[in-house]
Amino acid sequence: MMRSGQVGAVKHIFSIAAALALAAGPLRAEPVRVASLSTVMADFARDIGGDRVEVVEIVEPGVDPHAFEPSPGDYRAVAGARILLANGMGFEGYLDKMRQAVAKDGVEVVVAGDVVEPIEAEQACDAHGHDHSHHHHGSLDPHWWHSIGNARLVAAQIRDAFVEADPAGKAEYEANAAKLDGRLAGLAKWVRKQVAQLPKASRVLVTSHDALGYFAKDHGFEVMAVQGISTEEQPSSRRVQELIGEIRGKGVKAIFAENIENPKVLSEITAETGAKPGGVLYADGLGTGNAGTYEGMMRSNVNTIVGALR
Ligand SMILES: [Zn+2]
Repeated sequence: MMRSGQVGAVKHIFSIAAALALAAGPLRAEPVRVASLSTVMADFARDIGGDRVEVVEIVEPGVDPHAFEPSPGDYRAVAGARILLANGMGFEGYLDKMRQAVAKDGVEVVVAGDVVEPIEAEQACDAHGHDHSHHHHGSLDPHWWHSIGNARLVAAQIRDAFVEADPAGKAEYEANAAKLDGRLAGLAKWVRKQVAQLPKASRVLVTSHDALGYFAKDHGFEVMAVQGISTEEQPSSRRVQELIGEIRGKGVKAIFAENIENPKVLSEITAETGAKPGGVLYADGLGTGNAGTYEGMMRSNVNTIVGALR
């Protein structure tokens, strides 16, 4: 219990603080709190939101998002946010549960899968009529951001969500989003120019897991992945032998590792096929350093791919 004298002193301190705040000029509104399950969407949110938004990354760069399980603290952080950004399309296996848990908190959930053009997830061996029992027919590939066209759609979706949550910032969000969109259009042009250096027959991506389907679709690559659409799917020894045969048959020059998780058999496959290690790709989101932004991540991947397969 505080005595009345202490209460008076506390009130006095508050009034001084209020007076100082007024003297410093008009008070800036509280930033819009945005929680993100996607490192790519978090990057766009920071770009478009500027200092009107505060982005909390629930899933951080370098964490395997397929294996990620939110903690009670993560749930609290999401509940305290105005907007939640998610990939959807099955990428976050816990998303429905999280959506229900925060429904009462009025969190607006923005799901990239609602605006992108989805592609079906399929493994290379599907086409050859082998045992289909372990494949996920009808499931969608959630790695949407490897197509810059999708990235532009999702950036616009985030802009619209910010305008709705904070109409006073409309002009700022629209200006920032327009700048970002211009850069993404330039990036798409640059990628097309780089990929054009590769003859069609060289456009084969052997990777740890099946994450580059959207990139492959945009640029005429074939993807041969050791694992399926998730890093948690392990290949059978028959699948590994089949892959080795295909890599040899096509004379694939390089095999790519990923920055987060690689199956143990990847180095065995590389050694047995005589292909060289092609470098490291950012398959499941942003990395650090130069790959810490969407544009940097895409440039890094494209330079690695074109450099190794040229
Ligand atoms: Zn993945």
